[in-house]
Amino acid sequence: MFKLSSYTSVFSAEAYAIYTAITVSIDLRIPKITVVTDSKSVFESIKGSHNYTNNYLIPLIKSALEEAETKGTEIRIRMKITREVIVMINRLRSNHYNLNYSLYRKNLIDNSSCPCSSPHQDIIHLIYECSYTYNDARFLRYTVDCASRAEDKMIKFSQAIANPSPCLCRLIQNFSKFCGRQF
Ligand SMILES: [Zn+2]
Repeated sequence: MFKLSSYTSVFSAEAYAIYTAITVSIDLRIPKITVVTDSKSVFESIKGSHNYTNNYLIPLIKSALEEAETKGTEIRIRMKITREVIVMINRLRSNHYNLNYSLYRKNLIDNSSCPCSSPHQDIIHLIYECSYTYNDARFLRYTVDCASRAEDKMIKFSQAIANPSPCLCRLIQNFSKFCGRQF
């Protein structure tokens, strides 16, 4: 166990844990590891070409990753999928989620329409049709389109979320935040 100073930021603590996991794997000559983090800022700093936070651990992690590659340790760093996203994906799969058309079908509200005036506000409408959300859904739309070739959009979306990639989970989470609704 490592004990960090009480002044250490959450960012540094997470970055230090990742750095340690990588260097230990190199020392132990482990051929392949997956590091799972729930810190989006550390994850993005490692993946990005810039160290936005200027934290000294990010260049250390990057050089440890290069060292791992030369020494034959394959390292994958992934974002942990939060419980919130799992619940949301399950609701979308069962077609009972927090958008007006779905709530209307369950007799929870009187009006199934979208603020854009379309009569049915459902997830397909928000991703593919709604003038209010079309632009911000573009990465999600692209990822769903890549995940399934089905013609019918509802079938396409169902197939995409049947076995969602971490990237798709993140895009759904970000899109729900943009829409101001937990689907
Ligand atoms: Zn709309």
